Amino acid sequence: MARTKQVRLSAEEAIAKDARYVIQTYGRQPVVLSRGKGALVWDVNGREYVDCVAGIAVNNLGHCHPKVVAAIQEQAARLMHTSNLYYTDIQPELAEKLAQITKMDRVFFANSGTESIEAALKLARKATGKKGFIAAEHCFHGRTMGALSITHKAKYREPFEPLVPGARFVPYGDADAIRRALDNDVAAVVLEPIQGEGGVRMPPDGYLEEVREACDRAGVLLIFDEVQTGMGRTGKWFAKEYSGVEPDIMCVAKGIAGGFPMGIMAAQEGVASAFRKGDHASTFGGNALGCAAALATIRAIEEENLLERSRVMGEYLKKELSIHCKQDFVDHVRGVGMMVGVQLNKDGNSLVDKAREKGVLINVASDTVIRLVPPFVITREQVDKAVGVISELTL
Ligand SMILES: *Cc1c(COP(=O)(O)O)cnc(C)c1O
Repeated sequence: MARTKQVRLSAEEAIAKDARYVIQTYGRQPVVLSRGKGALVWDVNGREYVDCVAGIAVNNLGHCHPKVVAAIQEQAARLMHTSNLYYTDIQPELAEKLAQITKMDRVFFANSGTESIEAALKLARKATGKKGFIAAEHCFHGRTMGALSITHKAKYREPFEPLVPGARFVPYGDADAIRRALDNDVAAVVLEPIQGEGGVRMPPDGYLEEVREACDRAGVLLIFDEVQTGMGRTGKWFAKEYSGVEPDIMCVAKGIAGGFPMGIMAAQEGVASAFRKGDHASTFGGNALGCAAALATIRAIEEENLLERSRVMGEYLKKELSIHCKQDFVDHVRGVGMMVGVQLNKDGNSLVDKAREKGVLINVASDTVIRLVPPFVITREQVDKAVGVISELTL
């Protein structure tokens, strides 16, 4: 534990400085984290937590995966940033790798999930000449103006209106509602193949296939937001693989670079070619340091068989939760791979503090779903610890 000596601020100092100097947009928990390894994190007082939040489905390989750390260290000492005025000897290599795993033809590099959505919305308008977007109720696509326009929660949108016009919402899981909404001004339908922030909501069987068919018939693009479901989170590279449906455009971020900020928009050739030089850009997008982190992340997933681990440990987590969480406020457990939701029949926000006090970090989505998105490298013992704590929570 010698490294805890490197703590920069005490808990009290950190919380006081945040309160004084940071714009207060976050409802933070009263814990000051200082280091992490695998599925564990430690606070500045040396207290250990099993991390079932993983930076909101970002730290898929666990905290400070040695291969990602080494790649970042090596690249940082060599070349960090050049802008996109030049080629680098790493960005095209990552682009090829991403094209292979996404099964898309081309990628655009951005720095976050919301930016990848912005790129997708712009590309969809440019490729179709149409303006409208159909999104699903309870969806979440990000907080910048474009992504916010297609994000369902009124509380997030209304203070910032007017937003980008042309967005409409239909119930998630209802292909007929999408068919009815597809008029002549719709550029694209935007869907999460499994809704994340909405509370690990699964698509009904056949839904994505029907939506694909409806889009094809109407000449409308289909955009999959795999920002949260991608990079092995559901036990496959991408959640779309469970349906076999290929979108025209796909967004990936969160877990893509092992904790380093990156987002990409990937597209099929016929759509991607609508973007011409000058149509879109990002100063930092695809910078060499981020590319090194992403390449190391992808290689580690391959070398360490982490897609299978996400499937196997996710099944174990789901099974153990179903067996042990017998509280009367628990309705059922659902999810796939390492994206698991415990549906409650009442508001469960207060469970977050109670679990943390017992050494487990959890998150509650949409007030009534405990969302568990731990690192794939979590051990059985750590799952047992988390399930033990969760199964004893009271409301
Ligand atoms: C988190 C998330 C986003 C936004 O990503 P940021 O990196 O926070 O901008 C968009 N879509 C989905 C599905 C997400 O889960």
